[in-house]
Amino acid sequence: MIYAIASGKGGTGKTTLTASLASMWDRPVTAVDLDVEEPNLHLFLHPEITSEEPALMEIPVLDAERCTLCGLCAEFCQFKALSVMGKTLLLFPEMCHGCGGCLALCPEKALTPGGRELGHILSGNAGSLGFLMGRLRVGEAMSPPLMRQVKLRFNMNTNKDTGNGTGKGPAEETDILIDAPPGVSCPAVNAVMDADCIVLVTEPTPFGLHDFRLAIEAFRPLGKPMGAFINRAGIGDAGVQDYCAAEGVPIWAEIPFSRAVAEAYSKGQVVCQAVPELGGVFTTLMGSMRAAATAARAKRMEVAHA
Ligand code: SF4
Ligand code: SF4
Repeated sequence: MIYAIASGKGGTGKTTLTASLASMWDRPVTAVDLDVEEPNLHLFLHPEITSEEPALMEIPVLDAERCTLCGLCAEFCQFKALSVMGKTLLLFPEMCHGCGGCLALCPEKALTPGGRELGHILSGNAGSLGFLMGRLRVGEAMSPPLMRQVKLRFNMNTNKDTGNGTGKGPAEETDILIDAPPGVSCPAVNAVMDADCIVLVTEPTPFGLHDFRLAIEAFRPLGKPMGAFINRAGIGDAGVQDYCAAEGVPIWAEIPFSRAVAEAYSKGQVVCQAVPELGGVFTTLMGSMRAAATAARAKRMEVAHA
């Protein structure tokens, strides 16, 4: 199963929650930081990084000798990454989305595949926990292409036989916990679109409610089960609870505002370990997430077999 932990705004405690869930998950699990512009899940989990590879996107490279300046490629490119200016074909690599269309189209074979570095993909483990993250190159404007490459890694592994070490019985599927980028723009939608269920982290303030509402509106068309996790409960008003009741969004768990949690966060500690009395909250949340994801998957299979 794939679970996404998302939030309409930054600073709600999304990464803190992902770290706690990953630390106490009772099945094989990989924690994935898809907040590739500002990944920081590793600061809580302290994984041993065993692999770091550059992620490249295929972009065209021009052979000016072959180019007849026919302009077909520039006409085709919807992203204005190619333009005929006088007697030159200009290529703007940062605007290329790597669709490959111009390469296929050029009648002179004047465009060949090259690579633009998007960033790096790092993987490793923290004890029995798998870890994967993308880190966008400084200056790179587009995060979804890198996110897609990170997702390819875990999609390859999600249903892989992880082995149970006993040689008996079926091995368990590895669950995925995604720390999604905050907000409701393309990267956030990209991060949650493959999930079996989405946890939306918010706080009970007018600002929290505003962005929580945006997140519900942005993600609802994806048709995935969603539930709220209210962080710092008790600091504001009942707006989030009222909105959830009106919109039929279940509140899967809440943690009260507490100095102990704030101190754990400021020290980069995993909350469920630093404040063990909150363990029950995370266990409750884990159960709700699993029940929602299992029901959604069963429904999808029912529809597929109908
Ligand atoms: S399609 Fe090929 S030949 Fe025509 S302008 Fe583009 S690169 Fe040059
Ligand atoms: S690969 Fe696609 S996006 Fe990039 S320059 Fe060619 S047509 Fe444009």
